[in-house]
Amino acid sequence: MDISTYVSQHYFPLLTLLQTLCKIPAPTGTEQARAVFSKAWLEEHGAKGVVIDSAKNVVFPINCEGSDNITVFAAHTDTVFPDLAPLPYSEDEEKIYCPGVGDNTAHMAVLLLVAKYFIQHQISPKDGVLFVFNAGEEGLGNLIGTRTLFSDYAGRIGRFVSLDAKLGVMNTRTVGSHRFEVTLRTRGGHSFMDFGEQNAIAELSKIVAKIYAIEVPKKGESNTTYNVGTITGGTSVNTIAQSATMTCEYRSDNIECLAKMEETFAEIFFAAELENDITVQRIGDRPCSVEDETGMDELKTLCQAVAEEVTGEKVTFKSSSTDCNIPRSLGIPAICIGACRFEGAHTREEWLEKASLSQGLTVALKTALRLVGEDA
Ligand SMILES: [Zn+2]
Repeated sequence: MDISTYVSQHYFPLLTLLQTLCKIPAPTGTEQARAVFSKAWLEEHGAKGVVIDSAKNVVFPINCEGSDNITVFAAHTDTVFPDLAPLPYSEDEEKIYCPGVGDNTAHMAVLLLVAKYFIQHQISPKDGVLFVFNAGEEGLGNLIGTRTLFSDYAGRIGRFVSLDAKLGVMNTRTVGSHRFEVTLRTRGGHSFMDFGEQNAIAELSKIVAKIYAIEVPKKGESNTTYNVGTITGGTSVNTIAQSATMTCEYRSDNIECLAKMEETFAEIFFAAELENDITVQRIGDRPCSVEDETGMDELKTLCQAVAEEVTGEKVTFKSSSTDCNIPRSLGIPAICIGACRFEGAHTREEWLEKASLSQGLTVALKTALRLVGEDA
């Protein structure tokens, strides 16, 4: 069956599958229901050897035995929303409205249909292919799913393609980040009677001020940022605060700049530790790319050619923090591609353009087939 027939035959089944997946909650860390569903779905369509690994990734290998040049197609299963009840879902003629629909539920559905095509057409590439529905991509999931995959398949993966972007957008540069929770404690006291005692909020604010005085390192086209995201603490308006906590992060798409930020933050925390009772806990760690670009051009060119051929539009390249951070930090070519048009990612107002799924499935299918050396 040619690709366009497969895609047109599967447009409505894809919408139904997407609706089903949307209604299965999958907050980061609680992805098992989607994993169980995906494994059963694949098996129903004839997949053999599907496993759910220790990180709650669904892994479906085809002809991987003995290969050290496996191609991975992945889509993350988790959403940023903590809801354990099904998220609100509605649709009209043109759109589907549901938190997480584009990021990344539709990409899961598309990848399931790509896997089905491989099963139906008995495509068994010489170097093997892994379909992975992975957990832990969002927020403090810290890429646990991809980390686990790359440790279970250490040295055996040749390239990694993740469906996790908008149609026509590709993420080729990775943004690394480190995140911290910092708690500072003092003796505190009564605001009038003990005036002059150290105040935890005031002391923590000094650290915030130091962070905001950092001059971010610059290398070529790279971008480096920092942020203090939350701050909490104190007891009451008439109490000298005994405790204050903040969360903060820095990010960069350049490995040297990320290392420089790590050094600068360590100096700030170290100086604060000398003067205060302070606990610094690293709550997030996403590596960024190594400089080694081997194989990246080839992967990028192939993905770009397919997307431009199908959509007729120029691809935009972006930097992002995704599952690709893990392979890129290991020097393995990795790219995020998109298979649908959607807006409002990470908001409850997220919506997806239904019609874009036909082009999206075509892009995903052609990319997958060409990457494993099939005509498409
Ligand atoms: Zn995503």
